Amino acid sequence: MRLILLGPPGAGKGTQSARLEQKYGIPQLSTGDMLRAAVKAGTPVGLQAKAVMDAGGLVSDEIVLGIIAARIEEPDAHNGFILDGFPRTVAQAKGLEAMLREKHKELDAVIELVVDEAALLARIENRALETVAAGGAVRADDNPEAFHKRLVAYREQTAPVSEYFRGVGELHDVDGMAAVDEVSAAIDKVLAGLAH
Ligand code: AMP
Repeated sequence: MRLILLGPPGAGKGTQSARLEQKYGIPQLSTGDMLRAAVKAGTPVGLQAKAVMDAGGLVSDEIVLGIIAARIEEPDAHNGFILDGFPRTVAQAKGLEAMLREKHKELDAVIELVVDEAALLARIENRALETVAAGGAVRADDNPEAFHKRLVAYREQTAPVSEYFRGVGELHDVDGMAAVDEVSAAIDKVLAGLAH
């Protein structure tokens, strides 16, 4: 099962990915995690990516595609994978398709967790208020303002990618605002309905 999971921060991608990993025995591959690991290890890729990541920009398509190409060759990805945080641009989406074609592999589905941004923001604001009321401190990158910025950046970056996959008939929308079990059930339904 080769999947792409799209959805903004706070949409529940992590939770759903963990369930899919269990169910299908496939790894979740997050380019953000892989890039952070490369930066930490000081690899050539990490050294190149660090400044861009620090500035909140996008690492080059070439670097990210290279990372994914190598990672999906590893044994644990033999039966498939869940891509998270990738593709972030239409060029990456097309690059991925070309790469899979070359390896005689196919993407099974692209699932987008659709959210109500205002409701997500309200959730984060409530969480921040509750944390402060309980005497805790809200992390600098987890306050409502920073979260709003990440949502807007995500929307701007990813909207063309969603539209690209919608155009080629591969995009499946799932209501990300439903309860966790309901979201899982909706994803299962999409996957069960795929023609193999
Ligand atoms: P994330 O954890 O997915 O938010 O990614 C953290 C940072 O890594 C992003 O802000 C980008 O700088 C970089 N990054 C992650 N995935 C990609 C990607 N697919 N294309 C370009 N840059 C990426």
